[in-house]
Amino acid sequence: MTHDYDDDCIFCKIIKGEIPSYTVYEDDDVKAFLDISQGTPGHTLVIPKTHVPDIFAYDADLAATVFAKIPMIARAVRDANPAINGMNIVNNNGEVAYQSVFHSHFHLVPRYTDQDDFKMVFKDNSANYDDAKYAAIQAQIQAQFN
Ligand code: AMP
Ligand code: ZN
Repeated sequence: MTHDYDDDCIFCKIIKGEIPSYTVYEDDDVKAFLDISQGTPGHTLVIPKTHVPDIFAYDADLAATVFAKIPMIARAVRDANPAINGMNIVNNNGEVAYQSVFHSHFHLVPRYTDQDDFKMVFKDNSANYDDAKYAAIQAQIQAQFN
């Protein structure tokens, strides 16, 4: 895997050790460290050790490398605390999608109860859709693979 850094990137600085982090795991390809916000206790970020801004910039090799590590790190975070009952894995891409650091990262957010501090809302808009609307969107996306 290539290791390219962006000198202005806070997560590249963490990889290089120029900014401290509470690292829980690292190898040649990825680094996992506590998110400073601790949305829920144990909230961990997994980042590739090369500067890539978002998921849209991954090639298949980088994806295979990074995604292969996530289940192992997720299990370690879960197993570190018996009160953890589940986990949301969240990847924000673009400011409108709540991305604030433009070095791709995956949030591992341990879940304790449905009253803990993590919320995610999927509004059900299916009442506004008919077959023609679904099919039009399907065709627009499928066309991108041609
Ligand atoms: P996102 O909003 O998805 O881009 O997530 C960026 C995350 O990085 C936020 O949850 C921040 O709390 C976290 N963060 C920013 N700076 C640091 C830092 N120096 N150490 C650990 N986490 C950080
Ligand atoms: Zn970076």
